[in-house]
Amino acid sequence: MTSPRSAKVVLRLASDRTKNPLADSGPDSMTRQAGVAGAGPGIRQERQQGARGQAPEMLSLRIMATTDVHANILSYDYAGNRPYFGQGLAQTASLIAAARAEVPEAFLFDNGDFLQGSALADLAAHDRRKRVHPVIAAFNALSYDAATLGNHEFNFGIGVLERALQHARFPVVSANVLRERGPGPLQDGTFVPPYTLIERALPDGTGRMRPFRLGVLGLTPPEILRWDREHLEGRLDVRPMLEAARAWVPEMRRAGADLVLCLAHTGIAESSGGLDSEGLATEIAAIPGVDVLVAGHSHLVFPHRAAALDPRIDPVEGRLAGTPAVQPGHAGSHLGVIDLVVRRDGVGWVVARAQVRAISVSEEVAGLSSGLIRRNAALLRHAVGNDHRAALAWTRKPIGSTGRAMSTCFAQVSDVERCV
Ligand SMILES: [Zn+2]
Repeated sequence: MTSPRSAKVVLRLASDRTKNPLADSGPDSMTRQAGVAGAGPGIRQERQQGARGQAPEMLSLRIMATTDVHANILSYDYAGNRPYFGQGLAQTASLIAAARAEVPEAFLFDNGDFLQGSALADLAAHDRRKRVHPVIAAFNALSYDAATLGNHEFNFGIGVLERALQHARFPVVSANVLRERGPGPLQDGTFVPPYTLIERALPDGTGRMRPFRLGVLGLTPPEILRWDREHLEGRLDVRPMLEAARAWVPEMRRAGADLVLCLAHTGIAESSGGLDSEGLATEIAAIPGVDVLVAGHSHLVFPHRAAALDPRIDPVEGRLAGTPAVQPGHAGSHLGVIDLVVRRDGVGWVVARAQVRAISVSEEVAGLSSGLIRRNAALLRHAVGNDHRAALAWTRKPIGSTGRAMSTCFAQVSDVERCV
């Protein structure tokens, strides 16, 4: 990780630091940042070529993603009344800062299941004041570019979700959750916009800034109608994810997307044949026009080292049906990073190269100084500090006492089914 090859990246970090308030200024961090988020040989080489006169019709961009954050912001276990390491956006923030500092342009996305899962979220759901939801405040602080809705966004009802989304300074998209079903997906009245186009200027090989539009599509598991029936029955409808994606991807192209990223809140079924919508990521990745995909929901990590039974899955390179794809664990345990080199092909842009990584917090942040971790998390502490203190006061409050011995041995058993 600190091989001579990364030395050039370290130098880049020094010049990029002024752009990135989250980046640390110490020499320790420079080395670690190159290590934890340094692009692999292929992408790094491409970038260096760009600086020296890369073909003008090539652009490089970095996509970062989290998924299934489940309201784990400040790395605190409210149920156990203790801080924990290895999860929580407060620690992922160090990976995000490092990954951003390395490249001229990076996009940050969340793949759903962010609004439920900790005391922070439980408390916020019952707070009817017009305050910014702590998870939305955290995403705003980290400057997320877009997010999609997972199944757990609906756990507290539509009102809580709508109030939370009001304060999001980033688009939240889902193409298959409907307020009103039309004759076809393109005529549906969707609950939130089906997709967004993010326009950025990216430097080409000559250093000229080129406008580039990244299209971001969101997909939500249709099972929400069953899992949260008490909140959604008669109020929302859902289309199958594949049906919505097949209709909206070409529409996004027509609307000007240069590349299509799919935020799919669904897992990766390791064997082919099943069409369970909790494991549809490979099927979605195979849809023509889907260029990059973020999977989620199952809390697993992809790429990984284990073999896959489905021949369409390349677990080492991070490909699903040939499409670059990442699944960054859960609760901020990993940051998904997809580095793309795109080239002009006729009238459009296509992926020429991709490198996919799921960077582990417990493996990579462990070596950072506590001071650096704190500095990288400062924006989050500022954004959700009041909510955190309220959650601590709430969960530390005694609710009674008993003289009988009690076991928490099976406390999680009945929760498992609903809490993926
Ligand atoms: Zn989920």
